Amino acid sequence: MRTHNLGYPRIGSKRELKKASELYWSGSSSAQDLLDTGKKLRQQHWELQKDAGLDLVPCNDFSFYDQVLDTSLMVGAVPERYKALKDKLPQLDLLFAMARGYQKDGHDVTAMEMTKWFDTNYHYIVPEFTVKQEFHLFSTKVIDEFNEAIALGIPAKPVLLGPITYLLLGKEKENGFHRLSLLDRLLPVYLQVLEKLTEAGAEYVQLDEPYLSLDLDDEERKAYLKVYRAIKERFPHLKVILASYFECYGNNLSTVLQLPVHTLHLDLVRCSSQLSDILSTGIADQHTHLSLGVVDGRNIWKNDYTQSLSLISKAIDKLGAGRLWIAPSCSLLHSPADLDLETDEAYLKKEIKQWMAFAKQKVQEVVALKKLAQGGSPELLKENVQAIKNRNTSSLIHNPAVKSRVALIASGDDQRHSSFTVRKSKQQAALDLPAYPTTTIGSFPQTKEVRSQRAKWKKGELSEKEYEAFLEQETADSIHWQEEIGIDVLVHGEFERNDMVEYFGEQLDGFAFSQNGWVQSYGSRCVKPPIIYGDVSRPHPMTLRWTSFAQSLTTKWVKGMLTGPVTILQWSFVRNDQPRSETCNQIALAIRDEVVDLEKAGIKVIQIDEPAIREGLPLRHENWASYLDWAVCAFRIAASGVKDDTQIHTHMCYSEFNDIIEHIAAMDADVITIECSRSQMELLDAFATFKYPNDIGPGVYDIHSPRVPSTEEMVSLLRKASAVIPAAQLWVNPDCGLKTRAWPETKAALEAMVSAARSVREAVPVA
Ligand code: GLN
Ligand code: ZN
Repeated sequence: MRTHNLGYPRIGSKRELKKASELYWSGSSSAQDLLDTGKKLRQQHWELQKDAGLDLVPCNDFSFYDQVLDTSLMVGAVPERYKALKDKLPQLDLLFAMARGYQKDGHDVTAMEMTKWFDTNYHYIVPEFTVKQEFHLFSTKVIDEFNEAIALGIPAKPVLLGPITYLLLGKEKENGFHRLSLLDRLLPVYLQVLEKLTEAGAEYVQLDEPYLSLDLDDEERKAYLKVYRAIKERFPHLKVILASYFECYGNNLSTVLQLPVHTLHLDLVRCSSQLSDILSTGIADQHTHLSLGVVDGRNIWKNDYTQSLSLISKAIDKLGAGRLWIAPSCSLLHSPADLDLETDEAYLKKEIKQWMAFAKQKVQEVVALKKLAQGGSPELLKENVQAIKNRNTSSLIHNPAVKSRVALIASGDDQRHSSFTVRKSKQQAALDLPAYPTTTIGSFPQTKEVRSQRAKWKKGELSEKEYEAFLEQETADSIHWQEEIGIDVLVHGEFERNDMVEYFGEQLDGFAFSQNGWVQSYGSRCVKPPIIYGDVSRPHPMTLRWTSFAQSLTTKWVKGMLTGPVTILQWSFVRNDQPRSETCNQIALAIRDEVVDLEKAGIKVIQIDEPAIREGLPLRHENWASYLDWAVCAFRIAASGVKDDTQIHTHMCYSEFNDIIEHIAAMDADVITIECSRSQMELLDAFATFKYPNDIGPGVYDIHSPRVPSTEEMVSLLRKASAVIPAAQLWVNPDCGLKTRAWPETKAALEAMVSAARSVREAVPVA
């Protein structure tokens, strides 16, 4: 039995790569400095894994930006608009130009698109393909890094994104072809790379094909057979480890079992049942090895050795230990680096910390599991059993009152008292809003000053009183300014908030925060997700103070601003000892209490943001319905504690919603404000066929750019919208919150937006 890892976090335990990249981009350091940092990190990570006792250590999992973009460079898929740069810049700069755009020395090229890597919060750079797309070996990074590792005495295994997943992750930039048809041109470059790797002495190669976790058609399945047979034929002795993760192989399994690969990796965290499925096929009579991904690469909990060992021993019984690898479920790219750096108990209590494992600890777990499976190190098992038991029974986790409240959720609790039609007329009577009411999404510019005051307060350099006075002033200024320009439903501005999930997590019981638990989101951007370790409850109101303060300053309506249960769940590390839906319901009840408290305090419009509802969708279509059921239900639980004349808003962005529009309607928010303008209101197509029942504000301008849209542009978008949505249902608002913008453009844009609303009010009166 042997051990390996699929990938290690590349940013460094102290975000060294982030810092070095940003210094380089700002011109404050040289390319050599950045290259040196990269080299040092690779060496550190390799040695750490080797010293921990791994039999095979991944290389080429490192990247200065993203592994998909690296693959595009490897195969020379550099879009036409970078042609001049390709001839002129070093590859490192070309890579950054493709990722971030390039405006210098007379060049002005836009960046490539970026999107989420499967169901993670990691973003990759989307490959672009044309009909005449050619491929050629351009970047030799994978070979160079393999040589670098070998020179250091590392038992290295090059990791490559497999050719089919690479193509499928991309986009056709022209009509009239499917990207998979490029396979015949792409495959020779992969074969050339494998040739060079074998020449350099590679015995193993890991090919990542996570598309095998999605629904595939016959064409796509056939492509897998073709590619892996071609590789086998050309390199009969190369040991290919085929890795897919984040889901079962599902109905791709019969294809997968026909692939002539040395080792098949299984994500047994997301799908433990597939082990029995596979062991019950004829696999025992073949030669295929199995890589058992038992250590969770996507979460921060300590592995339950007893559970893992039971899976491992099932596999040993059938295949024998010699045909098995122990591994994490997927690349550790999605885990924070090192739990040992969490030394401040003000963040992570000792008791909670001992339940956890970050990347470095997960590598140790993989090695420990091998020892245990071979009958050694019984003390490791004893320790682990104790920690798991301690967590299961800890009073920090279990709050009987919360559990029983969730158990008692009744069928009516996720329903408003009356239908939308009844609510709408009561709300209209209570709120007295004009046609095409205007509002914003919540946040106003988080200026340097706002951030520096908060930092000073956190460091104790500013007293609570001084900080509060500062926030009151900011909030009051924003209220008065909104009144002045004539917005109808105001917001307080969210000046007191750092992040829309963290702000709530910090006030809820059952949440913890790490000091250094950073995970790469894209490029140099990292996030530090909150950790939900226990039953969630709300010890005190969370937003009442600032919302009520803002409302006290004006006779117009101020909208209360909350983050919804699904988004809080989605952007945190969650418990693995109960279903996600259970945790989501606990959060929903906490938000529900906040909604009711806001209502009691006289707040009549309350927004519950759910920007992450779509990204929680399972990878396989067959699992969508059950997810959407509980996610929509959790939102409704949060929203349904109020009277008919209290108006509930929700807000969504970051993704396409057309394919789940019916479920969005089922959330039954009185008003939804939704990102829309970047796609030129493409979203509205969905409304041509689906009659959205409640009120809706399709964003009329893109807040992601400092550009100020003209009144005419917004009027024309509103006209477009009113062609498919009855005018009586329409709201007027930007695409998203304004916290990343500066004040001058924010003011100019919102003034223009108000005047757009006024002009349609006159021109297109509501029936
Ligand atoms: N209310 C939040 C804000 O305006 C919503 C942010 C979001 O949708 N991501 O900042
Ligand atoms: Zn948004």
